Amino acid sequence: MNGRLAGKVALVTGGAKGIGSATCERLAEAGAAVAVTDLDDAEGQATAARIEQVGGSARYWHLDVTDEAAVEQTFREVRQAFGPINVLVNNAGIAGVNKPTDEITLDEWNAVMDVNVRGVFLCTKHAVPYMREAGGGSIVNLSSIYGIISAADLPPYHASKGAIRLMSKTDALFYAREGIRVNSVHPGYIWTPLVEELANQAPEGPEAFREALDAKHPIGHVGESDDIAYGIVYLASDEAKFITGSELVIDGGYTAQ
Ligand code: NAP
Repeated sequence: MNGRLAGKVALVTGGAKGIGSATCERLAEAGAAVAVTDLDDAEGQATAARIEQVGGSARYWHLDVTDEAAVEQTFREVRQAFGPINVLVNNAGIAGVNKPTDEITLDEWNAVMDVNVRGVFLCTKHAVPYMREAGGGSIVNLSSIYGIISAADLPPYHASKGAIRLMSKTDALFYAREGIRVNSVHPGYIWTPLVEELANQAPEGPEAFREALDAKHPIGHVGESDDIAYGIVYLASDEAKFITGSELVIDGGYTAQ
């Protein structure tokens, strides 16, 4: 453990796998007590167990970020178990349907908005009182390169990630004087179950899909979950105490083109 987050309490949504799971492990490694939350109980418990096995502090809660009563109750239980919450990572997100806008049903649109936008709203809403109690905090919202630029795919996903980018700035302004910082993180493609699922659906096949993705990143390949997790640890830590309303792009050069 390296102590950058010693004494802090962090709650991560969608912490069972991919970027969320790596984030839980890196936050714990830096000394935070981590509330791992997700829908996937087996993988979420496995993430918490891996942290405990190496001497970190973690516990798993089942949490659907779209359910306000569950969010309220989980945050209360985390506060009771670990103390006031210092760090919230709004990571839970889904890709949703991949078809043109005129073919998308309202239910398909709402499904993405519910997790990616409403979930960030609800978790932020219920974290802020505990961050006030802690005397400040850091909220890190997972947007995407697709919250900055677009592509001709996944219309609700792009809309949701653009919303998260500006929700982060609005909340940064609301809470700056209370010492609660809010920033967005914008990953390029990271090889996680979410992207593997996109690869499996690709008409050209998963291998050709991955090769094409690698080539889109000037650095020559897609990223790993830890590439994002280390950036989140930085934003969560007091080393980033002057950073709020900011966009941390971690994309192998994708958006520099
Ligand atoms: P992932 O591998 O699919 O993991 C996301 C986790 O969130 C899963 O465990 C999923 O559980 C959980 N989840 C889904 N709906 C939820 C809900 N309603 N409440 C709570 N948890 C829920 O995703 P990832 O690739 O690590 O992505 C993490 C975040 O980074 C997302 O916000 C994503 O948009 C963003 N991002 C990812 C990439 C990338 O290339 N991977 C790029 C840019 C941004 P189930 O599997 O059980 O549904």
